[in-house]
Amino acid sequence: MDPCATRARLARLAILALALTVLSGLGVLEARSVRGGAPPRVAAVAPVPGPVASAQASVPQQERLPVRVERLEVRRGDTLAALLRGRGLSGEQVAAVVQALAPVHPPRRLRPGDELTLEFADGPADRGAHALVRVVLRPDVRREIVVRPAGEGRFTASVEQRPLARVIRRADGEIEDSLFASARRAGIPAPVIAAVIREFSYQVDFQRDLRRGDRFDVLWEALVDEDGREVGAEPFLHALLTTAGTPREIYRFDDPAGERTGYYEPDGRSARKTLMRTPIDGARLTSGFGMRRHPILGYTRRHTGVDFGAPAGTPVWAAGDGVVVEAGWKGGYGRWVRIRHGGGFETGYAHLSRIARGIRPGVRVRQGQVIGRVGATGLANAPHLHYEVFRAGRRVNPRTVELPTAEALAGGAMTAFASQRDRVRALLEPPGGSHETVARGGAPGTADLQVKQ
Ligand SMILES: [Zn+2]
Repeated sequence: MDPCATRARLARLAILALALTVLSGLGVLEARSVRGGAPPRVAAVAPVPGPVASAQASVPQQERLPVRVERLEVRRGDTLAALLRGRGLSGEQVAAVVQALAPVHPPRRLRPGDELTLEFADGPADRGAHALVRVVLRPDVRREIVVRPAGEGRFTASVEQRPLARVIRRADGEIEDSLFASARRAGIPAPVIAAVIREFSYQVDFQRDLRRGDRFDVLWEALVDEDGREVGAEPFLHALLTTAGTPREIYRFDDPAGERTGYYEPDGRSARKTLMRTPIDGARLTSGFGMRRHPILGYTRRHTGVDFGAPAGTPVWAAGDGVVVEAGWKGGYGRWVRIRHGGGFETGYAHLSRIARGIRPGVRVRQGQVIGRVGATGLANAPHLHYEVFRAGRRVNPRTVELPTAEALAGGAMTAFASQRDRVRALLEPPGGSHETVARGGAPGTADLQVKQ
């Protein structure tokens, strides 16, 4: 697809803000327009022209308009005290802020990547310094910890939920090199693509099944803050992946009974199979294309499994729940792990650079658990995972072996799923017009986008 068209579509869809009440399991967040709604609190830009200093001396500190906003990102090794001192705060102020914060969010919980915002207003003219009016720490996208002056040089801290809007986004496109790279270019956030790839890893061999020209289509909810910045995403709602003319479609399901959340095919079969076709992060494969005819990599009659080319150190996942039966050195296989699953299946993983701690015979593993790292031990000329599947003790082709679905919804769960699925379908094919019509229909919000079933 023309990337410009993708972007234009993305932009149009970006205006659609709605709370998918059907997905109440995802939590209740305020849904409001990105453009309007809550009063503007803090300008994102700095400096903002403020009132003259003399007029401000009588204004309580809390109500002063910030004239300077500084955003910092916590780096490894930073301490709160050092960060604050580095922004010109006095020793007394630093101590007061740290003291206020401690009961709410101990400073040692500061993590690299946390965002710290300092807001200053004009201080008393005689001191000439800008007064600190707010310190905001964002330990995650949903919460912020706000420290405000409490008079007499003291501060007080409180935890507040951020007013995040949920904005429905959709992007589709054609796979040009890898799914990950193509989806990034289409504007899909990396964590969303990683989740899509993971959910399809049960059915798709990401090393061999993808062809140039295959297509993807993803619908997800972006979390947008009061400044219009995209700060995160909810689990994606729908993904369609078409490989070699075969469409595979999965929908998110949040069981109102609270028994399961996950992804299901339209007919209610779980996207998850008892074993994964790609027991490694598909986004990290060395090449999505061209490996099929590689003389060493790929399944042939003499070759006993499939190979996934990936950088050394890439995590290797247990393809299914099971019990480790072998873990150690095995000749040309190098470092090797073999797992016994239900239904007479076993899987094997060769050439590992490392076997994960605790992985030894007799140990139970969960599907998706990291059991080792990609390497080139034994007879391997480049880092790759050699993956084998056994059934009733005999090697079978991992690409073609029939794998049982982990679960098929029935009864009340199927009814609930069908209703959620149909709401998402209505978003994919808005009744009575294109997405553009819906988006232009005025203020984004639940009222304007009543999804019909
Ligand atoms: Zn191999």
